[in-house]
Amino acid sequence: MPARAAVASALGEHGARQIDHGVGHRVTRWRGAARLCYAGGMADLTGALEAIRAFVRDRAWEPFHDPKNLAMAVASEAGELVAELRWVASERADEATREPETHARLTDEAADVAITLLMFCDRAGIDLAAAIPRKLDKNALRYPILMPDEAPDLLLLPWAARRALDLAGRKVSLQAWQALPLEVRRRLAGLGSVAAVDLDAVRALVEGEAIGETIEAFVPPPGAPPGLDAPGWATLSLVAQHALHAYAARGKADRMRELYDAVMSSGESQSTK
Ligand SMILES: [Mg+2]
Repeated sequence: MPARAAVASALGEHGARQIDHGVGHRVTRWRGAARLCYAGGMADLTGALEAIRAFVRDRAWEPFHDPKNLAMAVASEAGELVAELRWVASERADEATREPETHARLTDEAADVAITLLMFCDRAGIDLAAAIPRKLDKNALRYPILMPDEAPDLLLLPWAARRALDLAGRKVSLQAWQALPLEVRRRLAGLGSVAAVDLDAVRALVEGEAIGETIEAFVPPPGAPPGLDAPGWATLSLVAQHALHAYAARGKADRMRELYDAVMSSGESQSTK
């Protein structure tokens, strides 16, 4: 059932891989979509949503599907998913998910979680496809990659690397980024994490890999962008400040404000300086 696979993809890369290896192309799209949270794009869930709406309509279930009931349905389906792994030792959990019978049950429960979540969002007027990249953006700033060596794969272009590339006047597509050796990705993220970015080193890395294109360097002006208060601004990490300036420069003041509020309310700002 294609719609089921589409719903499964809503669980993200890892979940989708666990659920159905046949949705590999959707996993790729998902990765791209997650990266595109910086550019405003997203895979769409329309097909899955239409299939779910038809299913509900055919059974005349709408009267029971108020937001409270649907939120409870999400929780109970999540409970069923969790129950499949209850008492499984953490060290065995990956192995357990690959056992055919367990895998089949997890697949069903994961789909139930995704389906009920989509039903809830539909009823509550939440555009999940749009909400996911927006929230990923917030999370990226709330939980910046401070230690690139510890990031396992750096598949998504982190803001630290974006800062290094912006300051050095280099643009790298997501595809080119992911094709870079992991060590190079880590070094770029590391270069963008420090106050004084070694621009020559950034350019040498990009040119050494024969990727990317030269663009006008984006160097944020000093201080906070218009609309953000100075005391809070000073507590932000350089990477977060760069990201917010990048939004301001693109005329996305609302998005900038939303992210700023998210970072300030997270309590993370002081520790990410
Ligand atoms: Mg279930």
